[in-house]
Amino acid sequence: MAGETGEACNLVKKLRRGEKTAYDKDTARDVPIELAIGYELADVVMCADLLAARLGLDLGEMVQEKFNLASKHRGWSIQLTVEEEAGESAIHPTNEF
Ligand SMILES: [Mg+2]
Repeated sequence: MAGETGEACNLVKKLRRGEKTAYDKDTARDVPIELAIGYELADVVMCADLLAARLGLDLGEMVQEKFNLASKHRGWSIQLTVEEEAGESAIHPTNEF
């Protein structure tokens, strides 16, 4: 997971230098650098999800719980709720920012 985070950070560095594209190993082509960063961020999330699963945790539930704890700690009114629909879940804020 740290390696994937490093890959994302390296691409952000290149974006800040003004580079417009990056080589993507999985598709074997140059892609817009924003898309390449997105692919690396997806790698980070997938690694985190796999680690959570190995620990017997649901990453989506952990994100909801942690966000709500942090929000409450800061005195914010926003909380995340999970809506179940057709066997899939999605996290939604309880109010607007
Ligand atoms: Mg990667």
